[in-house]
Amino acid sequence: MLQLKNISKSYTTGDFTQVALDNVSLNLRANEFVAILGPSGSGKTTSLNIIGGLDQYDSGDLVINGKSTQQFSESDWDAYRNNSVGFIFQSYNLINHLSIMDNVEMGMTLSGVPATEKREKARIVLERVGLKDHMHKKPNQLSGGQMQRVAIARALANDPDIILADEPTGALDTATSEQIMELIKEIAKDKLVVMVTHNPELAAKYTDRTVEFRDGRIISDSNPLPEQKVSSDYQLKKTSMSFLTALKLSGKNILTKKWRTTLTAFASSIGIIGIALILSLSNGFNKQITNYEAGALSNFPVMINYSAVSMDLTEAMAEDPEDTLTEFPDSTNVYPYDPSENTIVHNNVITKDYLVHLEGLDPKLVDGTSYVRSVNMNILKSDGNTATAVNAAGFTSFPSKNGSDPGSYLEKYYDLLAGSFPSKDTDLVLILDKYNRLDVATVETLGLDYEADHISFDEIIGKEFRLIPNDVYYVKSGDLYTVNGSASNLMEMYNSPDAVSVKIAGIVRLQEESPMSTLSAGISYSDGLAQNFIETAQNSEIVKAQEASDDINVLTGEVFSKTAGQSAGVGPSAMMPGAGGSSIMETKEGVLTLLGASSIPSSISIYPVDFDAKEEIVAYLDKWNEGLSSEDKIVYTDMAALVTSLSGGIMNAITLVLIAFASISLVVSMIMIGIITYISVLERTKEIGVLRALGARKKDITRVFNAETFIIGSFSGLLAIGITYLLTIPTNMIIKSLTDLSNVSLLNPLHAILLILLNVLLTILGGFIPAKLAARKNPVTALRSE
Ligand code: ADP
Ligand code: MG
Repeated sequence: MLQLKNISKSYTTGDFTQVALDNVSLNLRANEFVAILGPSGSGKTTSLNIIGGLDQYDSGDLVINGKSTQQFSESDWDAYRNNSVGFIFQSYNLINHLSIMDNVEMGMTLSGVPATEKREKARIVLERVGLKDHMHKKPNQLSGGQMQRVAIARALANDPDIILADEPTGALDTATSEQIMELIKEIAKDKLVVMVTHNPELAAKYTDRTVEFRDGRIISDSNPLPEQKVSSDYQLKKTSMSFLTALKLSGKNILTKKWRTTLTAFASSIGIIGIALILSLSNGFNKQITNYEAGALSNFPVMINYSAVSMDLTEAMAEDPEDTLTEFPDSTNVYPYDPSENTIVHNNVITKDYLVHLEGLDPKLVDGTSYVRSVNMNILKSDGNTATAVNAAGFTSFPSKNGSDPGSYLEKYYDLLAGSFPSKDTDLVLILDKYNRLDVATVETLGLDYEADHISFDEIIGKEFRLIPNDVYYVKSGDLYTVNGSASNLMEMYNSPDAVSVKIAGIVRLQEESPMSTLSAGISYSDGLAQNFIETAQNSEIVKAQEASDDINVLTGEVFSKTAGQSAGVGPSAMMPGAGGSSIMETKEGVLTLLGASSIPSSISIYPVDFDAKEEIVAYLDKWNEGLSSEDKIVYTDMAALVTSLSGGIMNAITLVLIAFASISLVVSMIMIGIITYISVLERTKEIGVLRALGARKKDITRVFNAETFIIGSFSGLLAIGITYLLTIPTNMIIKSLTDLSNVSLLNPLHAILLILLNVLLTILGGFIPAKLAARKNPVTALRSE
């Protein structure tokens, strides 16, 4: 069944060539016990290794069941060793860190025999070799004879046709040798057993046939088999080690060197700890910044003002190639320039269309919108007997949401001190500063004692004012209109059925946590009130009269100034709140606006819900400007944007630099892992040989060491993350004492997972070259190593 045909094999070391086998031909029966005898160095082991497919012949042929092996691929040889051959060595060659069971099962593990079947077969062979009671021991808990029995059980486990034994009793005493020989003889009943020995008595006593070697040649054969024709029906089952087997193998090996592994893992975790700490700090700081921004800066409105926005065009001008400017010139000259050529004054012309555009803004993004309108609302107050006009210029409007209840913005950011939040358009609120102060002018407006030390909330809640429509407030006298001015008339107007009663519904103060106050203290009204006033005003007599008169101011009788008229009435300075009334009275449009004829506000402030909403709002505002000339663009002010981009950018830069430094230690740990793996390969050389003899492929050997680095990498990664989490405790204590910020250092779990993966990857990379070297090891040399 097995034929060696003219096999030659020589080994070259340096320029010396040793012929180990010289044209050896030998036919072996499918079932016989053959002893190979011969002096040391005569080629016995070499012939056995070639028969077993562990070593390859230089010339000739090995024919298995009639099939030539000349065309065998590496994986064919691996499968042949696994399926058809069982090796028994003089020095047992058990894998010491595996249990006896695992040792015996290894060949079956490599060919993918299911676990229960594997276990059962291993139990049967162990019983057969007489180790029933020792199955769960480790190899080093056994005697030499017992270890050789395990090796025999391992050789038998996959039920091979051929058993090859190289001086199996060489290390045993005579009595034990006899027992082992009995066992092998028993096995040889239904197998081909080829045994190398240099003990002719043992050979004579137990074997059927003796073949004697000398100087790489056969010099005698006690029972030669003539050449036969055999039909080839030889099939091999390919082997492959699963990563799980590799993990188990390396895991158990690592357990035998716990301290070294722990120290290695710790050393290689330091780089990851560094990166993880940096990430957790920057992550924490970013979170703090974001929280602060979301809290503080989202309170900041995006503002659209009529007011002039000046833009420095120096840089834009510099783009003109003929007008190139040099920064920080190395020059002894001064260059005169006209600043008015370099800056432009931009007027935002808010139109009805723009207001419609603003209505399209997603209400979910907005907490509230407030408007400044230059309308002069006619407000009166009364003490019961007399009424007086109130200067409403000090009144402001509070932000509110379109269509929803007017108090929603205030409810979100302000504490209610007394009364209730405004629930209808005619509700006023009194806003106090954080000391509960109110300026004396407003106290006077409220009709209260401005010299008093303090005023009770009760005196303020429910205070009433009346809003008088233009048609009641102004009377025509001659061509002009005047305020229906005497004291008795004021009381009459106050009691007019057309007067609208407005009341202080509540007193509010900015919440303590709200970091920024954007509304000024004083009396505040809803924009709905102003809009209602404007609606009535648009149809009033005085407005109609002014609309009909292009040249004359119907209130003063003065002729409008032509120069002021050219700046189109709603000029920037004229519309600034609190700007002198003189210029606004000089144009027709100005007068109309004061009288409430214009529904266009002079300034709009949009309060975003949060930071992201602000980004969307700004993008929406930008949409309006698309394709418009720079003159027609409506420019908004977004104060918050400046702060954000600054802080985020610096943080990211610092983080990157620190990570780059920490990464150096990753490189160091990669090299260290390479060295450690290389040492491990040297230590496990014998194991590599055993695995190869059992049919493991080169790939499987690589896998064993990749599994080892995978375990170390995972371990050190987990260790690093664990240590980092522990380190965040003292880090946070230090930061807390320095900055009063708590829980700044905070490792993002996603970062933690990514870092562990990165560490595993780097460790495997570090061990990759040694793992490849291990796979290339010649199995014969590997088995010879001690
Ligand atoms: P035996 O087992 O009969 O003692 P071997 O088969 O081991 O002899 O060796 C046969 C000859 O080949 C010896 O001279 C030995 O030195 C040589 N030899 C065997 N293996 C190698 C090797 N890997 N490299 C170099 N020489 C070797
Ligand atoms: Mg030998």
